[in-house]
Amino acid sequence: MRNINILPVKDPIRRKAIQKRYRENHKEQIKTKAKEYRLQHKEQIKQISREYYHNNQERERIRLTIWRSNNPDKYKEQIQRRIYFKGKYITLDKNPRTGMCTNCGKVEHTNLHHINYHERDPLMDTVELCVSCHRRTHIQNER
Ligand SMILES: [Zn+2]
Repeated sequence: MRNINILPVKDPIRRKAIQKRYRENHKEQIKTKAKEYRLQHKEQIKQISREYYHNNQERERIRLTIWRSNNPDKYKEQIQRRIYFKGKYITLDKNPRTGMCTNCGKVEHTNLHHINYHERDPLMDTVELCVSCHRRTHIQNER
């Protein structure tokens, strides 16, 4: 996008129109470049967004609340891809649950219970349990 800014056009409105036309004519190229950039700078981008979130917590919380109520289906889909791992939520590429308890066979909302935690693979050593079997497992383990 830097090459657009050195256009010899002074009038800001005309300039904007030219930029807009450029973006429309190069949509795919821009998309591909942005994708490449994101892939190459994954860690940096993660770090920057983490810092941004940390510095704008209140604002981000409000933004998220608004987004959730405007996009209930997307939010629901995102929740289904989320697992609880070592005290925080991780969003995976797809929903790792089948919706059936592997202990009692009940089909309902399920939790992934971690038998052991593996930093490299948050899904390793997990079993899918319904809420009551999950609770029972924790009570038994604490004895
Ligand atoms: Zn169960």
